Amino acid sequence: MTVDQPTDGFATRALHAGQDPEAVTGAVIPPIFQTSTFAQPRVGEHLGYEYARTGNPTRTALEECVAALEGAAHGVAFASGMAATDTLLRRLAPGDHLYLGNDAYGGTYRIISNVYGGHGVQHTAVDLTQPEALAADWNPATKLVWIETPTNPLLTVFDIAKIAEITHANGAKLVVDNTFASPYLQNPLALGADAVVHSTTKYLGGHSDTVGGFVATNDDEWAADLRYLQNAVGAVPGPFDCFLALRGVKTLAVRMDRHCENAARIVELLVGHEAVREVLYPGLPGHPGHEIAQHQMRGYGGMVSFRLRGGVDVAMKVAAETRLFTLAESLGGVESLIEHPGVMTHASVAGSDLEVPDDLIRLSVGLEDADDLVADLRDVLDRVG
Ligand SMILES: *Cc1c(COP(=O)(O)O)cnc(C)c1O
Repeated sequence: MTVDQPTDGFATRALHAGQDPEAVTGAVIPPIFQTSTFAQPRVGEHLGYEYARTGNPTRTALEECVAALEGAAHGVAFASGMAATDTLLRRLAPGDHLYLGNDAYGGTYRIISNVYGGHGVQHTAVDLTQPEALAADWNPATKLVWIETPTNPLLTVFDIAKIAEITHANGAKLVVDNTFASPYLQNPLALGADAVVHSTTKYLGGHSDTVGGFVATNDDEWAADLRYLQNAVGAVPGPFDCFLALRGVKTLAVRMDRHCENAARIVELLVGHEAVREVLYPGLPGHPGHEIAQHQMRGYGGMVSFRLRGGVDVAMKVAAETRLFTLAESLGGVESLIEHPGVMTHASVAGSDLEVPDDLIRLSVGLEDADDLVADLRDVLDRVG
């Protein structure tokens, strides 16, 4: 029995894709197959699984489900977002070149510049809000263009369809890190991207209790390569982590709706507060990427960044003194988090083209009562701003 249909809506796919009741016992939830190996009936024959690095049924359920949410033919799960990123970057050989948006997750910049840079892979960070600049600058050694949108932590929006067009016209492939939007708000493959990468640690898992990564693609050849590397290199998620990610995905639609609603309330407070110099949120009509976001996203998400008039000292105080917003790295969980990107998540981009302002604060707006979140932030801004 296959319960899910490709025509099902998002919430239905999140609950059923890859998650048929288990064949032997009828377990409604895909069990945690905590085993390293699988008995084989005869030499050279097996029941679909041999060794758990190569494949595990709990992982298969997660792979089929998230692939369905991205409208992808193939999904490959990894032990972390960085492991997924690394596996995509293995497409690049010494002498190859990659374009990177000029705002990205610090760890993505670090692996590109330090790890792959050390192996002779060149990169250029470009302002992709002007996609024509990419066409004009094009380096013929380019094999990949890598973007996040909205970006971490500046919430810049890039036009996926336009960048895909320029990338493909030049014979390269486009990767979109869709961690901030989640598949509920944005599906990059439908807009022309060749591969989508997620840190499932964030919105997909959604409860700050597991680390994981994911790649979704419709490119059969690249998928075969990723699957080969998943096994050959071995950065696989364990069955319990797959279970947690899959459990999180079940409520992604309702969580994202509330993340968006609560973020809009926080943005309203920040825009009206005199301590705040600038609010960065794609849902604001004045945001430079607002129109693009309206077309390519189904909502503006739960991430909000803002800059303080009082500069870095005030930013540090705001980050340290909220009651409900917990001072911590990461994002996308049910609880609200606050952080100072310059010192915390983005320390690795200091001094580079991707350096972030030191008066910047990033919020991951959670699912607490919006009134409580607004009051918490207002109190701190009134006091230290
Ligand atoms: C967290 C994050 C990553 C890295 O994922 P891990 O699961 O921490 O390895 C990559 N991209 C973005 C946008 C992230 O926020």
